[in-house]
Amino acid sequence: MIQIAFQRNKCIGCYACVEVAPEHWAMSRRDGKSYLRKSLKRGDFFIKNFPEPEFEKLDRAARNCPARIIRLKKL
Ligand code: SF4
Repeated sequence: MIQIAFQRNKCIGCYACVEVAPEHWAMSRRDGKSYLRKSLKRGDFFIKNFPEPEFEKLDRAARNCPARIIRLKKL
């Protein structure tokens, strides 16, 4: 299992994560930041667990994020 911790308040709305994994990220029309679909808010972070086969795609999204606010952790 992989856990993503996404620090949404620092998002600069560049679309990179949405381009890599639109099934997991989308842009908010309200504030121009991306959001992690169906994640849980914990403090400043949005958290979601994913199955192992999603790792490569999620890792690419994290590496492409210029704000470095997508963190992956293997559980
Ligand atoms: S790649 Fe990073 S900065 Fe760009 S929209 Fe996604 S989370 Fe925000």
